[in-house]
Amino acid sequence: MGPTDCIFCRIVKGEIPAKVVREDEDTLAFRDIDPKAPTHILVIPRRHIPAVSALEPGDAQLAGRLLLAAKEVARAEGIEASGYRLVVNNGAGAGQSVDHIHVHVLGGRHFSWPPG
Ligand code: 5GP
Ligand code: ZN
Repeated sequence: MGPTDCIFCRIVKGEIPAKVVREDEDTLAFRDIDPKAPTHILVIPRRHIPAVSALEPGDAQLAGRLLLAAKEVARAEGIEASGYRLVVNNGAGAGQSVDHIHVHVLGGRHFSWPPG
């Protein structure tokens, strides 16, 4: 399975509750517990991959499925027309606090560019 101490692996296993909005064979999407925008959903692979920097060539299909799941989540949340932002923090220096790769889907407000 995955590390027993990984919060997101525990959500995948159902050991920690989460507001799941979408799931398929390879991915799970659920609402962030501390939302930074009116819509804030995390898309993760069921399999434990620590970060983008841990991705291997064999993970290409899974990585693509994360993006496609994020797109579908955005459409289902009604933020496609207004625009949304996908964020993947890699490493503590970039703000990654959970070491299980995840795509943030953020929408429902304005986002500045470049980010702070
Ligand atoms: P990071 O900072 O690693 O890019 O993003 C981790 C995100 O996970 C944060 O936005 C944080 O609010 C969220 N998070 C941390 N623990 C939990 C949890 O137990 N449940 C849910 N739904 N989100 C969590
Ligand atoms: Zn994990």
